[in-house]
Amino acid sequence: MPKKIAAGNWKMNGLRAALGEARAIAEGAPSGIVTLLCPPATLLAAMPEGLATGGQCCHTNETGAHTGDVSAEMLADAGATYCITGHSERRADHGERDADVLAQTEAAWRAGLTAILCIGETLEQREAGRTLDVLSAQLAGSLPEGATAENTVVAYEPVWAIGTGKVASPEQVAEVHDALRAQVGPDMSLLYGGSVKAANAADIFELGNVDGALVGGASLRAADFLPIAEALAAR
Ligand code: PEP
Repeated sequence: MPKKIAAGNWKMNGLRAALGEARAIAEGAPSGIVTLLCPPATLLAAMPEGLATGGQCCHTNETGAHTGDVSAEMLADAGATYCITGHSERRADHGERDADVLAQTEAAWRAGLTAILCIGETLEQREAGRTLDVLSAQLAGSLPEGATAENTVVAYEPVWAIGTGKVASPEQVAEVHDALRAQVGPDMSLLYGGSVKAANAADIFELGNVDGALVGGASLRAADFLPIAEALAAR
């Protein structure tokens, strides 16, 4: 059975003053699911007990002359057990391509982290009817051999739905997740990401092949994130 995961991606948000929100999320996290926060690397070591934590990306090397980068081993050393790889913002802002995402995913595994591998189509690709082909090619190019339900989670994040308030319809999510399930097997967790909020979470979690969510904006505050985690736990 896939694990149910409510994952929050804080992106480049969060000073130490935000740790109170993380504590409130840890205290209110429902049982029976994984509640996970991926804060900026600067906050990882200060995150409260009772939450799983993850990095947002990693360098592919363990150490070396790579100013400003953080290795998967450093994330693990700071307490992380997960690492997001291939987020569309990394692909757009840092030119990360499928081969880079594959290498980062392998680096995450090397450090004992579970990779949350993100894939997603642009609006242009969706409107051209290419969604499933694009996603299948991204997965083929970025999911390393040796992926298992223990070391990898796949997050479907339509680029046009991230941070835009436009959530994919249940039919759109179901079509993609059913296709992904056929590709990755019965046990790997499949998350949906893209403007998930308390108001739409339950409808998304009702879908058979959705095992949780990767949440950006609505993960910054306990009052917004906990109802999403609770909706998942209640499914
Ligand atoms: C994300 O960053 O992965 C994301 C889905 O963001 P948001 O929930 O803000 O759309």
